[in-house]
Amino acid sequence: MTDVKDLLLPHIRQLKTYQGVDPMEVLAQQAGIAPEEVIRLNGNENPFGPSPEVVKALGSFEHFNHYPDPDQRQLREVLSGYLGVSSDQIVAGNGSDELIDMILRMFLGAGENIVIPTPTFGMYAFSAEVCGGAVKSVPRNEIFDIDVEATVSAVDSGTKAIFLASPNNPTGNVASEAEIRALLETGAVVVVDETYYEFCGQTTLPLIDEYSNLVVLRTFSKWAGLAGLRIGLGVMNPEVALTMMSMKSPYNVNLAAEVALLASLNDRSTLLTRVQAIVAERKRMIGLLEAIPDIQVWPSQANFILCRLPEGRGQEIFEGLCRRGIFLRYFNTPQLRDYVRASVGLPEETDRVVAALAELVRG
Ligand SMILES: *Cc1c(COP(=O)(O)O)cnc(C)c1O
Repeated sequence: MTDVKDLLLPHIRQLKTYQGVDPMEVLAQQAGIAPEEVIRLNGNENPFGPSPEVVKALGSFEHFNHYPDPDQRQLREVLSGYLGVSSDQIVAGNGSDELIDMILRMFLGAGENIVIPTPTFGMYAFSAEVCGGAVKSVPRNEIFDIDVEATVSAVDSGTKAIFLASPNNPTGNVASEAEIRALLETGAVVVVDETYYEFCGQTTLPLIDEYSNLVVLRTFSKWAGLAGLRIGLGVMNPEVALTMMSMKSPYNVNLAAEVALLASLNDRSTLLTRVQAIVAERKRMIGLLEAIPDIQVWPSQANFILCRLPEGRGQEIFEGLCRRGIFLRYFNTPQLRDYVRASVGLPEETDRVVAALAELVRG
């Protein structure tokens, strides 16, 4: 009998898993401490949780026996008002991760490629590889800005899309309109992932009617604290949106996520006040980190901070933090060998992270 594994597509057999964040209980067990003592700053999650209105709305909603609307009518209508674009330009997804996946399934075939300025969010390369596509990484420059010339030159006849996050994860910097326009002029689909838009206020949305090859992604995971409910959205050319609506799985956004999104938008002022608190805490945390000798802190327009630790000591310091129950994001890649990324959490979390880092760096 043949081994069932021999039936797998070759590119799927070779796929490297995308390493997501572990649950609190797993992290606590690793550190040998109680879950409530864990400091979890590795997923850029919202430390304040969702709006209290979300919890109320979900608690009193009675229609979970019904399927959600496959055409997302109410959702797209409300999002249209929120974003100031027409509802036929919007598609909602099971997190923006699903939109990344859908875009690639629409455009990218085996043997074709995407271009990504790196370092950046890992899902672009992962989802491209799931499609059997190739990934052309173009290193960002020494301050992690996009090398526009090299990125444009990397686009060839097999290139279907360019993905960039602005602010970029994990470097925290934004792309300028001129840079994005230069990429759009290549004619490839340009996906501008604005997951952290609310923490910086800079958006590419005004270009959406000018370029039919532009897709802008947003999510409710970070600013609205809904990471666990999975809801994101894409804004794009209406014909591309229509195609995406016709190929997506019919009930891709669950009803709980829809209820939570509506409640979040109705309580926007609470959520945006919290965003302001995170932005203020980011500033305070950067100041404290900069005071630690031998650590280089990168400016950030998002809800996380990238730090370069003393040369050759990245892994050791990261592991020292884990043993203390402090979980940051460590990148074991050549470009980010000695870097860690810390999400901005509550002030008491900042204080504990900074104290532990100072101690570990001192050695
Ligand atoms: C967190 C993150 C996402 C994932 O967003 P979801 O809506 O939770 O899927 C997408 N892009 C970037 C750059 C992120 O950092």
